[in-house]
Amino acid sequence: MGTAYRRVLLKLSGEALMGDLAYGIDPNIVQTIAEEIAEVINTGIQLAIVVGGGNIFRGIKGSAAGMDRATADYIGMIATVMNAMTLQDALERIGVPTRVQTAISMQEVAEPYIRRRAIRHLEKNRVVIFGAGSGNPFFTTDTTAALRAAEINADVVFKATKVDGVYDSDPKINPEARRYQSLTYSHVLTQDLKVMDSTAIALCKDNSIPIVVFDLSVRGNIYRAVMGESIGTTVGESCEVS
Ligand code: UDP
Repeated sequence: MGTAYRRVLLKLSGEALMGDLAYGIDPNIVQTIAEEIAEVINTGIQLAIVVGGGNIFRGIKGSAAGMDRATADYIGMIATVMNAMTLQDALERIGVPTRVQTAISMQEVAEPYIRRRAIRHLEKNRVVIFGAGSGNPFFTTDTTAALRAAEINADVVFKATKVDGVYDSDPKINPEARRYQSLTYSHVLTQDLKVMDSTAIALCKDNSIPIVVFDLSVRGNIYRAVMGESIGTTVGESCEVS
C-alpha cells in the first residue's frame, strides 16, 4: 500500500479530544490519537496538525452570552493551546518529536508561528502542532487548517470528524442516503454542506488543496486516510457517489 502524500495537514477538532466526556480532554482518546500519529510519522510522511478548542471554549457561545466577540474568540484561541500542549505531551511520551507553534505569542510554553521554521521541523520529521488558531478573532480552526496547509504547501487537509464522510441527505433520517466518494468544492459551498466552514472551503478551492473528511472514532483511520485508503469523502475537483 503506497501513499501519494508527502506532507499532510490534519485538523483535529477540540471535540475529537473530548471522547464521551461533556467537556475537556479524555486522556485515553488523546493517547490513542498519539499512537495513530506515531504510525503515520514512522512511514516518513510529514505531518502538521491544527487543533481546535471547542471542547473547552467557543467564541460564538461566549458572545451569545453577552461577551465581546473578539475577546471571546481570543479565549477560544487560548483554549486550543491547551489542546496543542496536551497532544504534544502524549506524542512525546511515546517518543514522537514535536513542536508546538502558536499564532499568539506565549514563548514560555511554545514557539511562535514562523512559517519557514515550521517547514524545517517537518523536514526533520517532527510533528508540528499549530495552536491559537490563526491568531485572529472571527476565524475558526477549520480556516486555520486551510491557511496553514496553503502556507506549508501541504498536499491535502484531513478533516477528522464524527461521521464517515459527506452524504447526499442526512443518513440518520433517510436510510437511502448515499455517501459521496468525492465531491466538488463548489458543491459543498452552494449546498452549504457541513464539511468545514465556507472560508476554509474557499481557501482550499483557491489553492487546489483537497480535503478528506473521515471518521476519527474508528481506530486506525488516521493511518488509513493518510496512506490513501478511501475511507471518507474527498472534496476536490470531481464528484462521485459511492
Ligand atoms: N478562534 C478564533 N480564531 C481562529 C481560530 C479559532 O477566534 O483563527 C476561536 C473561536 O472563538 C473558536 C475557538 O477559537 O470558537 C475554538 O476553535 P474552533 O471552534 O474552530 O474549534 P473546534 O470546533 O475545531 O473544536
